[in-house]
Amino acid sequence: MRVNPNITESNGKTRIYPINHTLAPDELADLAEREHVSVEHLVDAIARGTIIVPRNRHRKPIPPVAIGAGMSTKINANLGTSALASDVKEELHKLHVAQLMGADTVMDLSTGGDLYAIRQEILDASRLPVGTVPVYETGHRMLGRKGGFTAAPASLFLEVVQEQAEQGVDYMTIHCGVTRKSMEVFERTSRITGIVSRGGAMMMSWMQANNAENPYYEHFDELTDILAEHAVTYSLGDGLRPGCIADASDQAQFAELFIIGELTQRAWEKGVQVMVEGPGHIPLDQIEMNVQLEKRICHGAPFYVLGPLVTDIAPGYDHITGAMGGVIAAAAGADLLCYVTPSEHLALPDARDVHEGVVAFKIAAHAADLVKGIPGAREWDDRMARARKAFKWDQQLKLAIDSVRAREYRERDKVPFSYEGCTMCGEFCAMRELARRRHREEAAERNKNKPATKRAAS
Ligand code: SF4
Repeated sequence: MRVNPNITESNGKTRIYPINHTLAPDELADLAEREHVSVEHLVDAIARGTIIVPRNRHRKPIPPVAIGAGMSTKINANLGTSALASDVKEELHKLHVAQLMGADTVMDLSTGGDLYAIRQEILDASRLPVGTVPVYETGHRMLGRKGGFTAAPASLFLEVVQEQAEQGVDYMTIHCGVTRKSMEVFERTSRITGIVSRGGAMMMSWMQANNAENPYYEHFDELTDILAEHAVTYSLGDGLRPGCIADASDQAQFAELFIIGELTQRAWEKGVQVMVEGPGHIPLDQIEMNVQLEKRICHGAPFYVLGPLVTDIAPGYDHITGAMGGVIAAAAGADLLCYVTPSEHLALPDARDVHEGVVAFKIAAHAADLVKGIPGAREWDDRMARARKAFKWDQQLKLAIDSVRAREYRERDKVPFSYEGCTMCGEFCAMRELARRRHREEAAERNKNKPATKRAAS
């Protein structure tokens, strides 16, 4: 379906973006209901580009996921093999865990093994939108060939995108903002960690070796036609994102963002949905500014942040440093949080890491939704508070974001569920004191209302 409204911009000009998506009218209605907005609002926001619903037209019907302004904050879980650890069964297990724990999208970032076959298995097994980073496959195909990745012809970059689009990938991270212009700015910076995006580093090495412009940038219109044909959504990659706190919010990062802002509009003109990727590592006090700047420069396109991590010093706990940044980013308007797992910077995540990462970011997304005023968010907390007050343990565990973990803790000390309290404060349980007072008051009230004879007998 293409939505094709006339949109009046703040400068009074009318723009028309026939945005391409795959939603049937009943799906639009379901999605609008789920997100507590009207169908008209949803259609209008998709047309404006402030909400995306990434789904490839060849994909088996998967439930649509809306990402963008006014929608509940979504989270992404990265999966995928590496050259050192390539086991598709493990990746499918990780996918299962991510889905179970509530991820909204997944990315297959595989770089080891049979990439086509792994992607197909993930596409077949996933009921979530699946994203990829096509330049990884471009690099993979050049492994063992003379000249390696940097000898890849420009046409191969587009061929890989075409094949992945035909296969059914819902959204693709394309590092088209690493251009000669942004690289010039980057060269003038004095970053500690330089370029930390795998895709960004690959594009830089290819451009330098070939003394040529980024093929994704140079052939952006052709590339966009491919995405439009298959209803694939752009995730415009931040190849120059900061990789440490010291490098945050520098000129190179924003030089790339300005290019991405222009490309966002060009993609919209061809009907392609867009989200924009953001950093990375940012100190707490710069996160809000980064979100506001993205929204301004990229015309309100949804913002997909990687974390962001608010400190560099906690390897092993980066799901926490990332979730801290994620909650601030989402509260400021970021729409999709890419999870970070405890193994970030250290190893390929296993299923346990995926579990930890998804839960940490679900909490961040929900905490942000509370202050964004997303309908339904506050009610969840209120139900939990009432269940706590009433010592309804089963209900508390059911409402918990990770029911299994919550049950493990509640049952660890073998205190029966009938006990009003837990081993934390034991006999000094403040909740129980209040409950007992309440019970006494209720009993007195009941007693007061009984007829005099019954009262005497009781
Ligand atoms: S014992 Fe303490 S922690 Fe446990 S339910 Fe009572 S007040 Fe809460």
